[in-house]
Amino acid sequence: MARKLRVWVDPNVCVGNAMCESVAPLVFRMNAQRQSEVADAQGDTEAKILEAAENCPVSAIFVEDEVTGERLFP
Ligand code: SF4
Repeated sequence: MARKLRVWVDPNVCVGNAMCESVAPLVFRMNAQRQSEVADAQGDTEAKILEAAENCPVSAIFVEDEVTGERLFP
């Protein structure tokens, strides 16, 4: 079974280019302030979520194992 992830976006860093939403649209969505928010941290595979985090131009996305607290990105 896939491990459960904790995923969040730092609103002080996000520049709102929606790259993460285009990679994993069920996980990330743009809010009214044109910033990304996590809609569902379980909305896609770990690989896709990490791909979204890696492709964020300002490294605003953080990913951890929810159970162990292991930092998976950055
Ligand atoms: S890719 Fe990064 S900067 Fe772009 S919307 Fe997502 S979190 Fe914000």
